[in-house]
Amino acid sequence: MGHQEATLSELTDLYATIAACKKCALAQGRTNTVPGEGPEHAEIMFIGEAPGFHENRLGRPFVGAAGKFLEELLASIGMQRTQVYICNVVKCRPPENREPLPNEIELCRPYLDMQIALVKPRMIVTLGRYSMARFLPKASISRAHGTPTRVGDWIVLPMFHPAAALHQPRYREDIERDFLQIPRILAEAGQVAETQPGEQAQQLSLF
Ligand code: SF4
Repeated sequence: MGHQEATLSELTDLYATIAACKKCALAQGRTNTVPGEGPEHAEIMFIGEAPGFHENRLGRPFVGAAGKFLEELLASIGMQRTQVYICNVVKCRPPENREPLPNEIELCRPYLDMQIALVKPRMIVTLGRYSMARFLPKASISRAHGTPTRVGDWIVLPMFHPAAALHQPRYREDIERDFLQIPRILAEAGQVAETQPGEQAQQLSLF
């Protein structure tokens, strides 16, 4: 992709490829693929785990209770979901909402990689340990959440999954607190992007 900007048609083409995908066993039980949604140049990309019941029915990510909570969290920093890109590690619903298996994540990974390359977000927020593992495979979410880390080209902020936070009050407090950091991290990421290459090493120590 080089430095080309993504166009909506490139993302739309990717969604069509995902809709036809039968690479793993999750294809068998799905009603709809759930590729992800959001502006093609979104500054923030949220990556969750896998579609659930409502997502599978509608073909859209985060539309159940966890999605409503995510919208509340976005509102706490003055943002709406239409401003951000939202997707998952796997694009088809695992049966009975079980966790995605390693081979399913691996087979689906090129689609997530392509989304990241096309959208080129300023920061990536991982929701839950499966999406955190894509960037920080050795990290423990209980220690890593809320700490922005530069991983390659990306600033990654791990958080608990909103669904876990809905069921566990202590996670809820954590995700609410972690979310409030987003505007500052995004602003700092913007300053880094605008500096000359020689200045970047110092600026990056912010993360
Ligand atoms: S989960 Fe991913 S790899 Fe598996 S069938 Fe769906 S789109 Fe293809």
